[in-house]
Amino acid sequence: MRVFKFGGASVKDAQSIKNLKTVLDTTGFENLVVVISAMGKMTNALEKVVSAYLQKALQMDAALAEVIDYHYNILQELFPEKSHAVYKEVHFLFEELKHFLAHNKSTNHAYVYDQVVCYGELVSTKIVSSFLNNQQIKNTWIDSRECIKTDNNYRDAGVDWELTQSKIKEKVNPKILTLTQGFLGSNDNNFTTTLGREGSDYTAAIFAYCLGAESVTIWKDVPGVLNADPRTFNKTILLEQISYREAIEMAFYGASVIHPKTLQPLQRKEIPLFVKSFLNPSQTGTSVAKGKDLIPAVSCYIIKKEQVLISLSSLDFSFMVEDNIGEVFKLLHKYKMKVNLIQNSAISFTVVVDNKYNKLDELLTRLRSNFKVRYNENVALYTIRHFKEKEVDKLEKGYEVLLKQQSRDTMQLVVR
Ligand code: ADP
Ligand code: ASP
Ligand code: MG
Repeated sequence: MRVFKFGGASVKDAQSIKNLKTVLDTTGFENLVVVISAMGKMTNALEKVVSAYLQKALQMDAALAEVIDYHYNILQELFPEKSHAVYKEVHFLFEELKHFLAHNKSTNHAYVYDQVVCYGELVSTKIVSSFLNNQQIKNTWIDSRECIKTDNNYRDAGVDWELTQSKIKEKVNPKILTLTQGFLGSNDNNFTTTLGREGSDYTAAIFAYCLGAESVTIWKDVPGVLNADPRTFNKTILLEQISYREAIEMAFYGASVIHPKTLQPLQRKEIPLFVKSFLNPSQTGTSVAKGKDLIPAVSCYIIKKEQVLISLSSLDFSFMVEDNIGEVFKLLHKYKMKVNLIQNSAISFTVVVDNKYNKLDELLTRLRSNFKVRYNENVALYTIRHFKEKEVDKLEKGYEVLLKQQSRDTMQLVVR
């Protein structure tokens, strides 16, 4: 089996969906599972629906209408025949969503979030599946919530691997092209869960692991993994081969082209991951596999924006050691702050964190009762793998450097 993943950019409009078909024509679609994300920026749009809904804001109807209209515009381009069954299927999904919004009593943000944002993937896969069937690429649509079983950690659910493996084996028929949603799972109560933003790459890896697939290919709007994000750097170099270890490090530090959780399951079964351009499907792209760490051997730049630099010191000049640092980590874990850099001295302790869930104020209030706290919001964290001093010097010139840390092959700079 092979597993393909098409992300938001590859299904963002009717033209892109037609292109997806061209990709399948080029690669063939035997023994294939295709995982698809929500279209374009629809997950962001659905997040707005969730926020407005929970704040009981008037904008909710407009936010929902934006999502619905976006999909109907694409439908109309792909299926000029209004009587096509897909219209009913999509209508049914949106009715289901409206029903949830009208009847739900829970105010648990993360729970509501998952029950709502899942419609991005459900609708996109219905549309693409019908389109491919129409174009003689026969496929079976499956609900990945019936395959990927998770815990109750809404918005960042953990996978129950044993159960998931048996469900996937039961649901996937290798003889026919299977099409399913990225990002989604469900818990014991069959409520929808999600695997974390950009989690569709991870879904592809889960299917590949459970099916013992021969490879995973993620199709992107870039030629493969580059040595830096092309949105920030002008001159980038395509990485042809990356070891699992190197790729895990890059993804962990924030190379957003691969979701960080994707690589562990693949590495365990040594399943190669290909990152390729959906605009040039016959180009080789990047291979993440066992072998050389990095070809070509160049420096890789990873940037994480909107980070918070927090420096703590003890109120009474006592040392920052295991027990009080342990306390800090418990709080960071409680407020779901991902730590991207740590530095400590005798009486101070500094971390750079991602304030993904907007919990900074709550965290700072708790910290202030035990520590003297200083912080800077909106700083950027540069990580340079296999750095060269000269290149770092050049980079530093454009910024105020707040902190610098280096190990044998990684340099990290916190700048603003
Ligand atoms: P998807 O459509 O699968 O969700 P993403 O938008 O998540 O795709 O990932 C592709 C984008 O990742 C690219 O358009 C590029 O801007 C960005 N990116 C960040 N770092 C890198 C990198 N090192 N190599 C290639 N692309 C990168
Ligand atoms: N649609 C989800 C997101 O935008 C998952 C994904 O695209 O990988 O985060
Ligand atoms: Mg994405």
